[in-house]
Amino acid sequence: MIFVKNSDQIKQMKLAGRITGEALALGGEMVREGISTYEIDEKIRRYIEKCGARPSFLHYGGFPASACISINDEVIHGIPSRRRILHEGDIVKIDVGAFIGGFHGDSANTFPVGKVSEEALRLIEVTKESFERGVAAAAVEGARLGDVGAAIDGHVRSFGYSTVKKYVGHGVGHDLHEEPNVPNYGTPGRGIRLCRGMVIAIEPMVNVGTASVLEQPDGWTVLTADGSLSAHYEHTVALTEDGPLLLTKI
Ligand code: MG
Ligand code: MG
Repeated sequence: MIFVKNSDQIKQMKLAGRITGEALALGGEMVREGISTYEIDEKIRRYIEKCGARPSFLHYGGFPASACISINDEVIHGIPSRRRILHEGDIVKIDVGAFIGGFHGDSANTFPVGKVSEEALRLIEVTKESFERGVAAAAVEGARLGDVGAAIDGHVRSFGYSTVKKYVGHGVGHDLHEEPNVPNYGTPGRGIRLCRGMVIAIEPMVNVGTASVLEQPDGWTVLTADGSLSAHYEHTVALTEDGPLLLTKI
């Protein structure tokens, strides 16, 4: 069932969204050569808790950390570790959620470590642009989920990149993952019709090479099947009478 939020609930969700966005920005500011993903995760956890919120991902389905931090060909769900050190030229995806006042926020971004390749920079840019295309499609009166996915995937494919199909965006609310699924691909005019009060995480995951992904033996980390680079960009988006509102954008 899709839980549609009223304007008071969306107002409450702004707090979870803001803390999520701030925690993500803080994590992004720490990205530099030589730092471990554990240190970034700890900073994010402490900030969320200092705000009186709870890290949404900690213990979610048994996940052992507050943020998912994924490097290079790791697509999503990377586990922070003292042994995972960032190196110049890496790209690192940080995915964060915060829960407060009964609601979650969910947001992700991809950060370059020092000087990275032209390809990596383009991938990061195209991934963010594809998110923006998705939001623009969602803003159209009467839009359907297929319009959002087609807008994202069309932009990604125009650069020769691939959209991950196995993992998708989702509704956000009292639960971190609610209905509906929000695929980053689709057919225009198909899928459920979007309506005011829906709150969805739009989150393209984009690979330089094939769309295929593999799950690591740790049970969490998802890798590109061909070892190519992957980028991720996500905001929690409320569909309001004034159009889409990015709750996690600070
Ligand atoms: Mg996320
Ligand atoms: Mg999400």
